[in-house]
Amino acid sequence: MKTAMVIGGGIGGLVTALKLNREGVSVRVFESVGTIKALGVGINLLPHAVRVLTELGLEEELKKTGIPTAELMYVNKFGKKIWQEDRGLNAGYRWPQYSIHRGRLQMILLKAVKERLGENAVVTGHHLTSFHDSGDNVTAEFITKRTGEHLGSYHADVMIAADGIHSVVRNFFYPDEGPPKFSGRILWRGLTESTPFLTGKSMIMAGHQDQKIVAYPICPDTAAKGRSLVNWIAELTVGGEMPPRADWNHAVDKEKFLPKFAKWDFGWLDVPQVIKSATDIFEFPMVDRDPLPQWTFGRVTLLGDAAHPMYPIGSNGASQAILDADALGQSILENQNAELALKSYEQIRMEPTANIVFANRKNGPEEVMQIVEERATKGFESLDDVITKQELEKIANKYKKVAGFDRETLNQK
Ligand SMILES: Cc1cc2nc3c(=O)[nH]c(=O)nc-3n(C[C@H](O)[C@H](O)[C@H](O)COP(=O)(O)OP(=O)(O)OC[C@H]3O[C@@H](n4cnc5c(N)ncnc54)[C@H](O)[C@@H]3O)c2cc1C
Repeated sequence: MKTAMVIGGGIGGLVTALKLNREGVSVRVFESVGTIKALGVGINLLPHAVRVLTELGLEEELKKTGIPTAELMYVNKFGKKIWQEDRGLNAGYRWPQYSIHRGRLQMILLKAVKERLGENAVVTGHHLTSFHDSGDNVTAEFITKRTGEHLGSYHADVMIAADGIHSVVRNFFYPDEGPPKFSGRILWRGLTESTPFLTGKSMIMAGHQDQKIVAYPICPDTAAKGRSLVNWIAELTVGGEMPPRADWNHAVDKEKFLPKFAKWDFGWLDVPQVIKSATDIFEFPMVDRDPLPQWTFGRVTLLGDAAHPMYPIGSNGASQAILDADALGQSILENQNAELALKSYEQIRMEPTANIVFANRKNGPEEVMQIVEERATKGFESLDDVITKQELEKIANKYKKVAGFDRETLNQK
């Protein structure tokens, strides 16, 4: 295989371009938006994804841009500790876990793609509308999304669809699938500069499945000033119909959800104050899609959210897209035949990612918060009366295995 078209210049698409370029494939990325901007708020990169980015030579950039997450703590809605575990290097992994701004990560990747593959390797303002697999190559047609103007066609030996949760390519193969599945929960995400909490590198989750707060700092520059740029996510079960189309950049008024969190001042973290002090807040319905029976069709395959959108639980969205890119690169290296390479990638990645989709529907590692809420809705004096240490450990370890980052296995790589 000599050439590849990657559809979508998000996290998955750009890492795929870097990885395939490293395996000697000539890659062009086609992105729908005219200008790629540093959009989004915080995400987490788990150690297995950081390994892939480190092998791609991005270690120093990550160090400069992300906070190496030191611990993860679950607390109940009164701020009392349920579970604490070390994370990343602190937990003995060979690679850190990073809490990082999604848009800044995308800019690191974009810069690396342009430096290594050339400025013209990323073609913006090109929205894929249709494609044809002749058996020898793939032809793709593009338009300007805003005007509908036809921009012409491009060919390559294979096409990798990393075009996100509303993937055109997935819709082509599964036309009856319909919109993403709504969990009944809404997420509001924002960024707030505040005094550091706990270690200053801690990630916390408070509450239970119907009302939750997640918070973690994401900016080393702010940390250097003795402050924290806290990425936070407030989550509520609202039920009913899915709000209009899922859009990461839909800004909303905090009064929509702030009253529900009015009493969540834990002393070490004043949740209502953090929400009040945020500038922009974005709303997103928590959605996923059912796992698919097939990603690869001849010379075309799906990757990242196009292949396996999942609830944003357990820090997996971006990390799993990066693992896909790694597996695809490895499969291409090991298989001369393009169709076999894409099929081998599907075989490696389809089942593990489906397992995460299912685990996240049951709250993933956050299951412990729900158990404690159900057993002690008015709070607890002693956690031992509510849940045993063994039960807590079992749930945490099980999820690490499902998501592919249990320390012993990963450190052997
Ligand atoms: C603007 C934006 C902001 C986000 N913010 C957050 C966040 O704050 N927190 C979080 O956890 N996750 C966020 N996500 C989602 C997160 O990036 C993904 O879940 C994860 O990184 C997997 O990446 P992906 O590459 O599969 O998909 P994405 O990162 O969603 O990338 C898909 C890309 O494909 C492009 N695209 C779509 N359709 C076409 C088409 N027909 N032709 C060409 N290009 C197309 C899109 O413009 C986008 O750049 C955001 C996604 C986007 C697009």
